This record gives sequence, C-alpha cells and structure tokens, in this order.
Amino acid sequence: MVRFRCLTLAVAVVAALSACKPAPKAAEGTAPVEQESERPAAISVIKSNGGAPASHSVAAVPPPAEIWKEFSGDKAFAEARAQVEVGPRPAGTPELEKARVLIEEALHKSGWDAERQTFTADTPHGPTQFVNIIARFSATGAHPAPRNTQRAIVCSHYDTKRFSTIKFVGASDGASSTGALLELARVLALDPAMAAQLELVFFDGEEAFVQFTDPDDPKPDGLYGSRYYARTLMSEGRASQFKFGILWDMIGDRDLTITLPPDSPKDLASGILSSAEALGVRQNFGYFSRTILDDHVELQHRARIPSVDLIDFDYIYWHTAGDTLEHIAPESLQKVGAVTLCYLRQALAK
Ligand SMILES: [Zn+2]
Repeated sequence: MVRFRCLTLAVAVVAALSACKPAPKAAEGTAPVEQESERPAAISVIKSNGGAPASHSVAAVPPPAEIWKEFSGDKAFAEARAQVEVGPRPAGTPELEKARVLIEEALHKSGWDAERQTFTADTPHGPTQFVNIIARFSATGAHPAPRNTQRAIVCSHYDTKRFSTIKFVGASDGASSTGALLELARVLALDPAMAAQLELVFFDGEEAFVQFTDPDDPKPDGLYGSRYYARTLMSEGRASQFKFGILWDMIGDRDLTITLPPDSPKDLASGILSSAEALGVRQNFGYFSRTILDDHVELQHRARIPSVDLIDFDYIYWHTAGDTLEHIAPESLQKVGAVTLCYLRQALAK
C-alpha cells in the first residue's frame, strides 16, 4: 500500500502529498436567490473583558514545520467542556452569550481579532437576534487584522438545538467543533503567515427552530448564521478572495467516523482524505450515503466557495440527551484537527 508521509519541510509536503491537490477555484453553484428577511447587520470589533488580542511577535521563532503535531486533543476537549458546562445554548438565549464570551476570550488569548457579526432574522419563533463570530489574524501584529489576506475559511456552529422536553448540551453537536476551532486558532498563531490566510468563523443559528427547510425556501429555518455570513461576503465583494472552505460539525464522537457528503468538491475531499492517509487515520474518514444540509451548503451555493463538511453523522446520540461529554473524546478532536492542519499547510502553500 502506498502511504504518504507528512514530511518535515513544507516544500517536501507539497511534493510528497501528490494526492493533496490545490482547491478548486470556483464552484458551479446554483445562482442564489436573495431573500431579504434579515435586517441590517451591526458589525463591531469587540473587546470582551476589555482585552485586546494578545500581541504576537512576527517571525520571532520559526513556525513549526509539522504544525499538525501541535494540535492538542486535550486542549480542544477542555474548550469543548467549557462550552458544555454553560448548559443548553440555543440561539437568542443568555447562555449562548456566555458561550460567545468564552470563544472571544480564547481567541484574544491566542492573538486573534474577533468580530461580532450581529443580525436579526425571522424564525418560526419570531424575529431573533443572531451573532456570528469572525476571527482574523494579523501577520504584522497590527490591529484590527486586515480583511484581505484570508484565502480559506474554517468554520463551525456554536449554538445548540432547542428542546423543551430534554436537556440537550450538544457535546458533539456544537461544542466539539467549537472547542477544536479554538485549539486550531491557538496552533495557527504559531505560524502568523499561515494564520493570516485563514478566516475562522463561529456560526450562530445553524440549528432549525422547528425543522430544516431548503435554504432557498421563502421562510428558511436553520443555517441562519452561515446564510447571513455568505450573503455578506457576496455583498461586500469578499467571497472571491476565498479558495475553499472547511466546515467542522459533530467531530467529537469517541468512535470517529467522518462522513463526507457525497457531493463534496472532488479536489477538496481527496486532499482531506490524502492528509488522513498521510497521518495514518484514513480509516476514520469516509463518505455518507446521502447529501447533508449543513452550513457548508450556504458557503458553497450562496457564496460560491467550494466547501467540504467534516462531520460524523454516524453518531447515535445526535439530537438526544445523550450527546454529552462522556461520548466524545480528545483523540477524535485531535485527528480532525491534525488532518485539517496537514491539508491547510499544503493547500495554502500554493
Ligand atoms: Zn444539530
């Protein structure tokens, strides 16, 4: 069996991982139908706890050549635990605001700027305010970080589905990917030039209030945050600066089986699978039998950014009271984090 190895030098990685091809340039997406149910955004750069992002010195130490080895499953798990300990975190609740503050504090500690993208959208429960958190890194140390250096998006949702009959804390569905994204931010800060090429987005309102609808439904339910983010990328003329997007959702299952949607962009999916092969975790990655409606759909079809969803949809505790910390594992977070970093390192080198 031919087995790729992530080699020490970035150049060697590019050469060795021949299966990791550059991301496709533009998706042949359906032309989005614009809907105006959402109201104007209030965008502000936040300074929670009165703190500015931690300063970082540029090129003080060389970035780690094998940056994927820096990703700690334990640290990602600790961030996920902090989210779970907030309790159920549906959109529009004070608990979700607590979760947001935790996210912002962690981002600032790692030297990232965190922008709140606030908007109101109609939902089956009436108009509701949502807040996406967008993190950017300045390679020069100047703040706020510029908005034109980013070439790829890594994202996750941080809200949990609302239930009136069970206590649902979303250890995998909400917290796992949020915790991992915060750990990714910490690791990327070790390589400022790489970090500046990424936009990390924490979506609010991924979960439907009642039931997911087609994203182009006149009264859509679910994917609120990613829809607003994708529309804003288009209206601000920023969508074209992104080569690809990677969504993480439900990546904590102890028995990790990442189930890529079958309609994943080919080059992107094969690059992820090659990275999984290179790191010896290919057995944890496969394809799902059906398409998956998730935040990547908004990036893909509305903002026309080729996007892949790393999701474990083979999770028996999905949307049950059993989606708790004991059913997720640091090792699973570490695998997804390392594979993504390995892929990003070679994809962004081109
Ligand atoms: Zn869910």
